[in-house]
Amino acid sequence: MRSLAVAWVSCYHLAPVKRSCRAVTTRLRGGPRTRASLDTKRQSQDVGALTSGTMAGPWAWVQKKIPTGTQVFDAHAHVGVDIDGRAMTADGMKERMDAANVHTSIIFPLNDPNARDDYSGPNDVVWAAHEEYQDAFVPFFRLNPHKDYEAEFTRCVERGFKGLKLHPVSQEFELDDARVVRLFEMAAEADLPVLVHAGFAMERIVEPLLPTVERLPELRLILGHTAMVELLAATRAFSDHPNVLFETSVVRAKDLYVLFCSMEPARICYGSDIPYGDLPSTLHASLLAADVAGLSEKELSGVLSGNIRRWFS
Ligand SMILES: [Zn+2]
Repeated sequence: MRSLAVAWVSCYHLAPVKRSCRAVTTRLRGGPRTRASLDTKRQSQDVGALTSGTMAGPWAWVQKKIPTGTQVFDAHAHVGVDIDGRAMTADGMKERMDAANVHTSIIFPLNDPNARDDYSGPNDVVWAAHEEYQDAFVPFFRLNPHKDYEAEFTRCVERGFKGLKLHPVSQEFELDDARVVRLFEMAAEADLPVLVHAGFAMERIVEPLLPTVERLPELRLILGHTAMVELLAATRAFSDHPNVLFETSVVRAKDLYVLFCSMEPARICYGSDIPYGDLPSTLHASLLAADVAGLSEKELSGVLSGNIRRWFS
């Protein structure tokens, strides 16, 4: 079972990684916007394809490994459309969650071609998804720090959004840019968690972020993709900052293993990065790395649910 499981990680876990790289490259080139959207019908078959046939064994292992009573919480998922052509609807997301027995997901916009200045359109799409599936979706809004963001920040907080998503690669900013630091301050003041893309194509994470984290210990921060380009430096720098969580979506198996060996399990949370990742393979990758690293059932349950769920209850 173990060798089959590892094979699944190498085939299916790396596939979304490649897609993500391409997506970032496309975004960096600024186009194209017209590539056919990822077909929702085809996507709806993903869970079935990844949990049946030769994949039935690894999926059964995942199901067995999820501790009894754990309501799986996905800390990183997108609803809307991206300039690279990817898309995810509220219905498509909920369908995948139901098929994979995932209870709750944090959702936020993609790098939307309709974002214009303030991201209000894509944020409205996320809010509508949340209104449709209130128990399933925890809505985060997205902003572009280069643009006027104060009004949209206030509008989203007043509306009831539960957090903020920032993407330094897509929106081309550094984490120590004064406008970004101001956003971190506003989020801390509003008691709003912030999920920062800290994965592909990032060059500086720890050095620009650490002064803000030290100055704002109350700021709740989720490092998307575990800060994998500076993983060991990040686990060392942020180990004494309990409000910083490491999120596991579309991270290579060996980096996930290093994460689970070097960071207290209570500081790690599971994510899928749908539509770049998928629930079965990201669950499998996270559980396998955690299992090999020797996590207990209680610690596994925290990674899959409790470590982040407590922020929203
Ligand atoms: Zn993402």
